Amino acid sequence: MMPSQPAVAGLPAANAMLPVLATITQIQAEAPGIATYTLEFQDPAWRSAYRFRPGQFNMLYLPGIGEVAISMSSDAEAPQPLLHTIRSAGNVTQAISRLKVGQAIGVRGPYGSHWPVEAARGGDVIFVSGGIGLAPLRPAICSVIRHRADYGKVTMLVGARTPADLLYPGEYESWRQHDIEMLVTVDRADETWHGRVGVVPLLFYALWPDPLRTTLFSCGPEIMMRFVVYEALARRFPKDRLYVSLERNMKCAIGFCGHCQFGPAFLCKDGPVFTYAQVEPFFGVEEF
Ligand SMILES: Cc1cc2nc3c(=O)[nH]c(=O)nc-3n(C[C@H](O)[C@H](O)[C@H](O)COP(=O)(O)OP(=O)(O)OC[C@H]3O[C@@H](n4cnc5c(N)ncnc54)[C@H](O)[C@@H]3O)c2cc1C
Repeated sequence: MMPSQPAVAGLPAANAMLPVLATITQIQAEAPGIATYTLEFQDPAWRSAYRFRPGQFNMLYLPGIGEVAISMSSDAEAPQPLLHTIRSAGNVTQAISRLKVGQAIGVRGPYGSHWPVEAARGGDVIFVSGGIGLAPLRPAICSVIRHRADYGKVTMLVGARTPADLLYPGEYESWRQHDIEMLVTVDRADETWHGRVGVVPLLFYALWPDPLRTTLFSCGPEIMMRFVVYEALARRFPKDRLYVSLERNMKCAIGFCGHCQFGPAFLCKDGPVFTYAQVEPFFGVEEF
């Protein structure tokens, strides 16, 4: 039996494979090859009922071209309009990069597991991102900022290949103003850069985290997350408080097709957010 469209309470259960139309109302260039798309559902019922949780993703569809999994990058407590930050990688994402304001895109979702921002309340939080990995973390950052008094020390470790590749740099100052310690690094500096140079996991050497009261959320290239986990484990973080968001080639997003199988799990319905304890045996095993 075909499962029904998930988690959009208050709307009639639709065919799980049927996208609904959303209009692009704004396109914001972020970094070379990366832009943020503001999407507004055309159907007012979807506009008012659609909800998602930080870390979840939608499948974005272009007729005749295909579908891609893209995380929400906006504030989950202001679910419309939706923001998706997209890197032009291949067939579908390149076609999306040619769309203009006013054009429509198919959306189905939300799908997947989420960053447990509520469970992290009462303790410290470390966000670790590399490159476009900051996009799926942004809704969790928005949530922590909305409920800032419920958290202890909040630290962000942000990295990118070059200064031009940093995502959302215009927001870092406002995050600092919400008492978030920002440590930013780039792999390769240019003449404009006066900050840190080096890979993201090295930023751990500037921290003194308390592993027993800290939850860590990480998203970025898998090689980066492997070293992040290594540094965190070396500081005795419990494996079940280290969260990683993983990417695999995805097709149906509802646990049917098996494209995104990850050990015994399906990334689309059991992930993309996992604890390290859940994925340890398979972490670092490449897709084939
Ligand atoms: C849960 C999830 C959330 C994601 N969130 C975002 C996001 O917020 N922003 C964003 O820009 N991208 C995100 N991605 C990645 C995005 O789905 C892929 O870049 C996209 O599917 C590429 O499709 P394409 O048709 O443009 O490229 P293709 O022509 O299909 O592929 C281009 C190249 O990328 C590889 N590739 C395709 N899909 C993936 C993948 N999922 N992981 C690794 N390599 C892949 C292909 O093997 C090929 O080498 C996410 C992926 C997942 C699984």
